[in-house]
Amino acid sequence: MKRMYWTHPDVFEAEVEVAEVEPGKVVIDPILFHPDEGGQPADLGVIGDATVLDVQVVDGRIIHILDKPLPAGRHVARLDGDRRLHTSTHHTAQHILSGLARKRFGLQTVSVHIGLEGCTVDFHKKVGWDVVEELERQALDAVMADLPVETSFGPQGEQARNRTGSVDPDDIRIVKVGDLDVSACCGAHVCSTGTIGTIRIFDIENRKAGTRLSFLAGRKALEQSQLETRTLRELRILAACATVDLPANLQKTIERSKELAKEVSRLWSSRLPELAESAQRVPVGPGVVGVYTGELPRDLVVTLAGVIAEATGGAGIVLSENQIAVSGKGLSASDLFKKVQARVGGKGGGSPRAANGRLDKTLSSQEVIELLTGSSSVPESA
Ligand SMILES: [Zn+2]
Repeated sequence: MKRMYWTHPDVFEAEVEVAEVEPGKVVIDPILFHPDEGGQPADLGVIGDATVLDVQVVDGRIIHILDKPLPAGRHVARLDGDRRLHTSTHHTAQHILSGLARKRFGLQTVSVHIGLEGCTVDFHKKVGWDVVEELERQALDAVMADLPVETSFGPQGEQARNRTGSVDPDDIRIVKVGDLDVSACCGAHVCSTGTIGTIRIFDIENRKAGTRLSFLAGRKALEQSQLETRTLRELRILAACATVDLPANLQKTIERSKELAKEVSRLWSSRLPELAESAQRVPVGPGVVGVYTGELPRDLVVTLAGVIAEATGGAGIVLSENQIAVSGKGLSASDLFKKVQARVGGKGGGSPRAANGRLDKTLSSQEVIELLTGSSSVPESA
């Protein structure tokens, strides 16, 4: 018995023989820590008075990276139990999902990820939410049945089990979860499925030709469910309706707000000639520039600049808060834009016909006119 995370996954503390590979890097026997391998994050914890920062498979050996050198000899090694429980419950949950998906729904697992915050399993073809819900129900049945998770070894696997700290790429270790799943696997699992507590699938998304399921197990699943329950409750209070009515309610609100936005835009558009008329006019070079400042809906800033340019025959400049749009007819929009921007700073640009962007400070019409006519007292941008 060498790799305890295979044969005795419920043992979180053991006396081990430490051999130094180089200062701060050791191999141990038996191997208590699961390395960063097969999509499952490494176990962390302590060996003696050193902290295990990472566990990696390097040239077939399981190397423990420590925060300080540790003398060779016998030390007590102890896992970070919460972390191991997280990775082993989620990893075993993935076996259940993949096993059920293959057996009951003909879905092949093409990729898995066991993360500390979230876990995913990718199936080879598209599945709908109805299948996902049935899979989730059957996964819960498997958890409640408290099925044993058994490890066995082929001839090569038996060898690997008895070897000190060495991992052969051909090692075969078989993991069997009840009658749901049998697969070759190098991960750390729980001893029986009841330990998982619960498995929840929270989302699905298309991945090329297949589907990715996002799932959580045990305490993480509870925490996520609580967050979503809390959020739904807040939404119910805001919308003053039942949970099942929220989608229709929100849909109605979105449609109403789109209608209102259209109405607002129509009202503003009808005021454009009047706003253009109120623009302050100033001769600049061979033409006249009309300058308007005031709060406007974003999409009308450019439109109004165009209306003013048409009216003056020279150019129109519109400023709404920090947003600026310049429209040129007889005068170059980009030249005027640069003149203002060079003085106060900002982003953007354009062509002689149209230029727009944002300024680093808000300006009044009078200040813009002074900038254009060279009588400005506005301090230059840093
Ligand atoms: Zn496994």
